[in-house]
Amino acid sequence: MPQIQLLPDSVINQIAAGEVIERPASAVKELVENSLDARATKIKISVKKGGKDLIQISDNGSGIEPEDIDKSVIRHATSKLRDVDDLLKLCTNGFRGEALSSIASISKLTIESMAKGEGSNGIRAEFEGSVLKSKEEVALPFGTTITVKDLFFNAPVRAEFLKNDSVENSRILDCITRLAIANENVHFEYRADNRLLFSTAAGSLRSRLSDCLGASVARSLLEIDWEEQGIKVRGFVNAPEDLQSNKRNVPYIYLQKRPIYNALISKAINQAYSPYGDFSPIAVIFLEMPQETFDVNVHPAKREVRFSRDNAVFLAVNHAVHNALQNAISYPSISITNTLREHAPAYVADTVNTVPASEPQLVVDEKQIAKELFPDSRIIPVATSSREPDLVDKAPSNSPDCLQIGKSYIICEHGNSMLIIDQHRAHKLILYERALAAFQNNESLDSQELLFPENVEISSYLLPILEAQKNELKKLGFNIEPFGTSTWRLRSIPAHLKISAAAPAVIVFLQNTYDSKESDMFKKNALSFANSSAIPSGAELSVQEMKSIVSDLLFLQNPYETPRGEAVFMKMPLDDIRKKF
Ligand code: ADP
Ligand code: MG
Repeated sequence: MPQIQLLPDSVINQIAAGEVIERPASAVKELVENSLDARATKIKISVKKGGKDLIQISDNGSGIEPEDIDKSVIRHATSKLRDVDDLLKLCTNGFRGEALSSIASISKLTIESMAKGEGSNGIRAEFEGSVLKSKEEVALPFGTTITVKDLFFNAPVRAEFLKNDSVENSRILDCITRLAIANENVHFEYRADNRLLFSTAAGSLRSRLSDCLGASVARSLLEIDWEEQGIKVRGFVNAPEDLQSNKRNVPYIYLQKRPIYNALISKAINQAYSPYGDFSPIAVIFLEMPQETFDVNVHPAKREVRFSRDNAVFLAVNHAVHNALQNAISYPSISITNTLREHAPAYVADTVNTVPASEPQLVVDEKQIAKELFPDSRIIPVATSSREPDLVDKAPSNSPDCLQIGKSYIICEHGNSMLIIDQHRAHKLILYERALAAFQNNESLDSQELLFPENVEISSYLLPILEAQKNELKKLGFNIEPFGTSTWRLRSIPAHLKISAAAPAVIVFLQNTYDSKESDMFKKNALSFANSSAIPSGAELSVQEMKSIVSDLLFLQNPYETPRGEAVFMKMPLDDIRKKF
């Protein structure tokens, strides 16, 4: 008996859906691309519950003709491609005719559209799992609204892999931002659970970057304009002085204005920064090259492309970025106030109200500068937790005497042994355990109020995470509040954290939350908090500080190694020492 059978369309569609629609953000990407292909100038995106309950995209584009509505959800039905030759002349985002059919097969899909042609009628069609449920004429404005309800309703396994709503919202925002950067003439609006998370009006590329990346980031980017072997490279990259080593930026790369991901190009960018260290800078790269030198039809979600001349593309991007950096070095910009602040340790307001909270700090008075440069014992961390003894002030009186060597190690006697403790690792472990306890027990760690609130620029895709994680940040001692759309203000930061390390620490926290599985999140965030806040090697410690570290360390259940498995101290029994003599 023959064994091979053709699969029914419904199954074929669901298989394609698995490749094209991995999560709500991929559905949003496909639908927004369709609106862009329909030459819309205004696109509104609205989602509920991270896109799982609802995704709705409205545009003012060309619309779909009534007789095309049924076809639009059939697999490989497209208005954008007629024959193989067209594949080489593509100027649209879509061409495979797979997106609507995939989405329809795993959701309840409604298409409402009014085409711009003469004598057209508005049409509303409802589908459930690809099956047409109803179709009627309705009065509509020009354009198309696609509503996707209950995404993955018949693919529960996929639904299970989705992260919490704020992470899905962030991914959606990331994909909207990527499309928005390449389409500065289009007005975008994005709402999640009825809250406006992102809005950008049609304008110049600079103003678009400012909306998408934050005003101060956009202002300081270096421009790229380069051509090599027929490959045009335009765009913007971080100036060397703005690099942040602990921030892993995924570059915005576009090929003929289509967003793509490409490891080779990312490498070419990062390599241009290698003289400054190991960085993943902010980069927006627009590539233009002859159509016959690349293939866009290699990935179902059209994310990847294949270049016929990998090497030439790598070199063109690398040289373009390198050149922009070289030009920047000839005209360095140094801000005196920033330099002062960079080197200043975090300090505490004498009284919280010395400076009105909401006023930007433009005037720096001499006393404050002196205080920044000569921090002394008047630095009093604001204790918000009654449980943990503060490191500086309240070392237990019965802790052993300590000695610091090499400004990095603490030597003390413990029982019948001598301990040599790595001060940085010990403090890291203590902070890690405290952060974990704070997350788990809903407590807050000690924090210090800032006299000059510190601004943090948040990439728009991380904004929903910040909104959702404000409380978790507070537990670590970061008090952060909105100050404009992408700018937030740090009012207080964890005790011991240097001001200059505070904003990067917040960003690492958000990035971790974005990247990690929910189960790893606490641990990863506690670790990065501990890494950034721990007393460094090379810092001179007072006897009190050393005593405090030792007693806190020995209080831990496992004081032996850091979460990364590094040894925290060496123990030398007195007997062994005796034998050596
Ligand atoms: P593709 O974009 O690859 O053509 P899709 O499945 O995404 O495939 O869409 C199928 C067809 O539906 C498109 O070719 C287009 O004709 C039509 N369509 C989808 N969305 C829109 C829209 N927002 N405005 C106008 N036409 C649309
Ligand atoms: Mg499409």
